[in-house]
Amino acid sequence: MSIKKVIKELNKKIGKNRVRNSEEFKISYSYDATGKRVLPSIVVFPENEEDVKNCLEIAFKYKIPVVPRGAGVGYSGGSVPVEGSISIVFTKMNKIMSIDTENMIAEVEPGVITYDLQNACEKKGLFYPPDPASLKTSTIGGNISENAGGPRCFKYGVTSNYVLRIEGYLVNGKRVTFGSASVKDVAGYDIKSVVCGSEGTLMIITKVILRLIPIPADNTLIRFNFKSLEDGAIFIDNMLKRNIFPSALEFMDKSSIEAVYDYMKIKKDLKIQAIVLMELDGERADIDSKIKRLESLQDKFDIISMEIADEKEDKEKLWELRRNISPAITKIAPKKINEDISVPRGKIPETVKYINSLSEETGIKIVLFGHFGDGNIHTNILIDPLKSEEVEKSEYILDKMFTYVIEVGGTISGEHGIGLSKKRFLKYQYSKREIDIFENVKKAFDPEGLLNPGKIF
Ligand SMILES: Cc1cc2nc3c(=O)[nH]c(=O)nc-3n(C[C@H](O)[C@H](O)[C@H](O)COP(=O)(O)OP(=O)(O)OC[C@H]3O[C@@H](n4cnc5c(N)ncnc54)[C@H](O)[C@@H]3O)c2cc1C
Repeated sequence: MSIKKVIKELNKKIGKNRVRNSEEFKISYSYDATGKRVLPSIVVFPENEEDVKNCLEIAFKYKIPVVPRGAGVGYSGGSVPVEGSISIVFTKMNKIMSIDTENMIAEVEPGVITYDLQNACEKKGLFYPPDPASLKTSTIGGNISENAGGPRCFKYGVTSNYVLRIEGYLVNGKRVTFGSASVKDVAGYDIKSVVCGSEGTLMIITKVILRLIPIPADNTLIRFNFKSLEDGAIFIDNMLKRNIFPSALEFMDKSSIEAVYDYMKIKKDLKIQAIVLMELDGERADIDSKIKRLESLQDKFDIISMEIADEKEDKEKLWELRRNISPAITKIAPKKINEDISVPRGKIPETVKYINSLSEETGIKIVLFGHFGDGNIHTNILIDPLKSEEVEKSEYILDKMFTYVIEVGGTISGEHGIGLSKKRFLKYQYSKREIDIFENVKKAFDPEGLLNPGKIF
């Protein structure tokens, strides 16, 4: 097969300005947030379903692998092209077709930026809760394919909890639709939920119907400073048992507090060994009554201090520490191995303790922070990749950490997905028999293995 012939056919069917194969384009679309790089042979920018169908039919005729791509800010290597592939970039298919206030649903194309959808919904008094930290850049197609979730997922769930219908194409160019516009739908297998989190390996998504909810009337941000993460866990457990259910519940362990204090040049308060940031949302009266109950709880538990922010500026100040973790980390070592393990909520303190013990044992700095509500612990192992001893130690830490996480009932990935970066670790969580079932699901959609091959397993 000559690539020139394929480009000629693509140009004819889709149009020259939507089909690119210059070095600039190939390089620009060769990587995601992992920094892994493979140049595609061709980059296609569909503007409508017809373009997608035409592109897939041509690729299938010549047996060329295709790799779908949203904004390319994934942390799994999911949208990194494979050798000789066509990268299909969805950023031009970014229409919000409708926001139906009566049925509380939105119909959108996959290239819509999550934040844009949230703003459009907000204008109509509606709320699309999934909030990955990348929401100002990442796309709905990318969010669905990685089943993304952020701080709000504790109360509101992850992306798949809002997906009602997925429409799109199999790799051979045939159109398929799974789910409906109804919130209840148990007709047949729940394939749309299988597609959520499938990292672009099963089908190409071209349109989705998303469930919306009424927007919460108000919110307040509270910061608690604790003497230890264990104290924080005991407090949160008691708070939840008293039916105070926050919309976000973030924690910083002493490793991330130190990193940020150093980075922001803030004088350290050595008593503070853990910080919890909590958002309460709902009606004002309800929030105020919960704050009163929290204040009375404060005396019963070992809380160093509690700060409450209602105004936008005050909230920004409280979020500042948390937001500065990522830039702070980049100053510590040339490379961060960014893991996103997740454990049952009650296991957070002991898991954090265990990972800190691995750091002490190996002398490798590990910065930890995460979501208290959903058990997601962001583990940043900081090394110099040019020092083989540090690389070896990081492998040792990963092996121990993943083994531990599975033992306590958790997962090797709570947010970012498996893609390329974690596929060698999938066996920590799943047996050969279970991975065979994944492979058979893949074969049912894509028997020839042409859609985003080599990802996940
Ligand atoms: C700074 C930063 C913060 C982050 N924070 C979070 C977080 O809080 N929570 C979280 O869950 N993730 C987070 N992520 C990871 C990432 O942003 C999400 O996985 C996001 O969903 C990726 O969206 P994207 O549009 O960039 O998709 P891409 O990276 O382009 O693609 C992701 C996957 O989706 C597939 N795909 C894309 N479009 C389609 C389509 N139309 N049809 C089929 N498959 C498709 C791709 O093949 C790929 O496998 C973060 C990343 C960064 C860089």
